[in-house]
Amino acid sequence: MKHALMELPFEPSALAPAISAETISYHYGKHHAGYVTKLNTLIEGTEFEDKSLEYIIMHADNAIFNNAAQVYNHDFYWKSLSAVSTTPSVALLDLIGRDFGSMQAFEEAFIAAAAGFFGSGWIWLIMTGEGKLEIKTTSNADTPIRHGETPLLTCDVWEHAYYIDYRNVRPDYLTNWRKLINWNFVSENLAQCEQN
Ligand code: MN
Repeated sequence: MKHALMELPFEPSALAPAISAETISYHYGKHHAGYVTKLNTLIEGTEFEDKSLEYIIMHADNAIFNNAAQVYNHDFYWKSLSAVSTTPSVALLDLIGRDFGSMQAFEEAFIAAAAGFFGSGWIWLIMTGEGKLEIKTTSNADTPIRHGETPLLTCDVWEHAYYIDYRNVRPDYLTNWRKLINWNFVSENLAQCEQN
């Protein structure tokens, strides 16, 4: 099946100045779009040609895995952002309190993990198979669903996510990214876990 570039859930300028329209035009329009195009080219004539994105992520390796996972990760990243203020559900707040102590402690731990992460990759809030919330980091294209974990939130710390706006100062990107978290999306992801 041909994989499609998802539509951005906001206008390209909607996150400015935290994330500029120019960053979005490269990050979404070049990097994310590039992974989709490359994936479609790579799977042509292979066993993955007619498979879903999730199937490819679970079964492919090397370049096919990398491009499929980057499509999934970027879809998740854009959905994790909101141009308008959102709030976490009571259920999410309860679990964050249980597993991190408080929302502030969670946010500080997440930002510290993202600031301290070496190289290109992703920072996640995940639900483990045992029903516990954890902060997880994945390198390059790696993604929690490959490891049987359910992602609730992600932050892209590849340099292309922030270099135009912040140059090498990743902590400033993270401070502003934090204000854009789409808590509705995170809360919906948690609600889906609890149904399963
Ligand atoms: Mn990216």
